[in-house]
Amino acid sequence: MSDNEIPLSKPDLGPLEEQKVMEVLRSGRLSIGPMQERFEQMVSARAGCREGVAVSSGTCGLHLVLLALGIGPGDEVITTPFSFVASANVILHVGATPVFVDIDPKSLNADPAQIEASITPRTRAILAVEAFGNPTHMDAYAQLAAKHEIPLIEDCCEALGTTYKGRPCGSFGRAGVFGFYPNKQITTGEGGMIVTDDERLAARCRSLRNQGRGAMSAGGQGSWLKHERLGYNYRMSELQAALGVAQMERLDELITARQRVANMYVTRLAANGDVILPTVSPESSMSWFVFVVRLAAEYSREERDRVIQGMRNHEVGSADYFPCIHEQSYFIEWFEQAGRTRPSFPIAETVAGRTIALPFYTTLTEREVDLVCQTLEVMIQRENLRRS
Ligand SMILES: *Cc1c(COP(=O)(O)O)cnc(C)c1O
Repeated sequence: MSDNEIPLSKPDLGPLEEQKVMEVLRSGRLSIGPMQERFEQMVSARAGCREGVAVSSGTCGLHLVLLALGIGPGDEVITTPFSFVASANVILHVGATPVFVDIDPKSLNADPAQIEASITPRTRAILAVEAFGNPTHMDAYAQLAAKHEIPLIEDCCEALGTTYKGRPCGSFGRAGVFGFYPNKQITTGEGGMIVTDDERLAARCRSLRNQGRGAMSAGGQGSWLKHERLGYNYRMSELQAALGVAQMERLDELITARQRVANMYVTRLAANGDVILPTVSPESSMSWFVFVVRLAAEYSREERDRVIQGMRNHEVGSADYFPCIHEQSYFIEWFEQAGRTRPSFPIAETVAGRTIALPFYTTLTEREVDLVCQTLEVMIQRENLRRS
């Protein structure tokens, strides 16, 4: 990476983060301590939930929620094919069957009508994702889940701090899960958190993340080596939690900065007929996970791939968020092994073939945004010239 490179993402870390991490280092208490509890309180409060369970990644959080809900072999979980693979991987991790449905072309989230049409007596959950942090349809999913008496699991890993119709993301389902990888709105390096109003679910998740220990042996009077169930080590360290506390204290500042960059892109690209900008419903306030544009309908996947490569060659970060999950090699194998016909989802597939994620982080300047857009425009022009 040279000095001129504009990366795809960059965490925003400052003196507060250093101070909190140093506090933990000096305390000598590196795991299961007060920072984790404080971080859990901050995130769950922001998500409008009573309980927070910090874990070592967003993926681990989703895995634990499925386990705690007792979902396993023979159970079907309805989800979207247009997401980061983790949201569907966890369904395979517990041995359940992922049932994908096509997406709505505007919000890029699972189409509620298709979800309803896919519900069978074996459906044990709807695992919904806010694609790129867009919360549209979350209320519709919650209604569907209530009507059919199945839990809604909200993979809100891309939506921390976002609200829809005044309601915070994380609070729409039985449980929500956030992720804190360095490209997210806030980071702990690696980390995640389950949020829920269901105290029993939270207690089960706390036990599962800590090798199946009961509440007593984990923090109370019982033996540390008494395990009540088969668990995992999915704990978050105090160092990570300290980073999380500092980032949560700055969340509003970070969201404002992300909104500023999103506005710059929208203003700069509004008149460009070759790119489709993200659709944000007036009913949501976004915290902006990424900034993803789409090439217009006439552009092919190959042309899109060359635009991305061209931008990278010019030291501008760019990526094809997200290739469809059902088209990943191991999912194709899974369909074969399960004796199922490989599904196809026309909307998700066309969208996935035309998306371009642009550099997106809090400190991007107007000059850099302009340079990114100029490079994008030159690469698109090059494709138009190739054709003629
Ligand atoms: C980031 C993310 C996750 C969790 O990722 P981890 O790297 O495990 O923290 C899960 N689902 C979606 C949709 C994500 O974007």
